[in-house]
Amino acid sequence: MGIYIGLDIGGTKFMVHSVSEEGRELKRVKEATPYGQEDGINLLFEMIREVAEGSKILGIGAAIGGPLDRASGVVSPLHQKTWRDVPLKAIMEQEFSVPFFVDVDTNVAAIAEYVLGGYTQKYFLYITLSTGMGGGFLINGKIYEGVSHPEIAHQCIDFSCKFPERAMCECGGGRCLESFVSGNGIKRIYQKNAELLSVDEWEEVGYNLGMGLRNIVTILSPSVIVFGGGISVGGGEKLLNKAEQMMKSGLKLVTPPKLILSKFGYDTAIFGASYIAKMGSKLYQREEN
Ligand SMILES: [Zn+2]
Repeated sequence: MGIYIGLDIGGTKFMVHSVSEEGRELKRVKEATPYGQEDGINLLFEMIREVAEGSKILGIGAAIGGPLDRASGVVSPLHQKTWRDVPLKAIMEQEFSVPFFVDVDTNVAAIAEYVLGGYTQKYFLYITLSTGMGGGFLINGKIYEGVSHPEIAHQCIDFSCKFPERAMCECGGGRCLESFVSGNGIKRIYQKNAELLSVDEWEEVGYNLGMGLRNIVTILSPSVIVFGGGISVGGGEKLLNKAEQMMKSGLKLVTPPKLILSKFGYDTAIFGASYIAKMGSKLYQREEN
């Protein structure tokens, strides 16, 4: 009997697990992300061997921050500063002699949410709202890729903000949705963590999120939007209710989707990673890659 391995490679922690062929979790380990790239790769090797416990590995999948090139598996995660143009697929396939698949963490989380959540909707959007913000859009359960990964968080919005001079996006663009609603954006504008926001401040974050959702829904018209990540969970109903009210008030022609909070919290990326280890390119609209 063989196993699949999932890697959640984050800027602050690495999580690695093994699952059975049916997707049942067997063993999971977690470590702080080392600063250096070589230390990071060596730590991943060790963690993979630890969770494999000598079983035959059938495939490895990974979720990591963008940007990356999925087909070649070359990654340059924005929040891991020493990782630039790392040929992760070539490195892993050489070390373990098994197929390796990698994708942007938001796409991987979208797949896990869809499969584990038992969703069947044709147009499914997953949004993660944590330190940063990102999205994964699925059509019939397959990832919509675009020429490069679509970045819904970096759309320009008609914002409302008490301190507009403090808003700044790490991408370098101006008036990005992310700069008003992400964990880093909230810290910059309100000069405190999201859990300390007042009711009025949550209202403002909800307003700005709603403006972004209005744009997203006008263009993509998804059936449902599922929200994961610490800010979504922390903001909960007060955030989503305000965002929904703003979104709906602006949508005159397009049917508003249902907004739902993720049931899986922080585990979506790792389960998605072991799922892409098994399914590989079958999960994509463009299978030729
Ligand atoms: Zn931006």
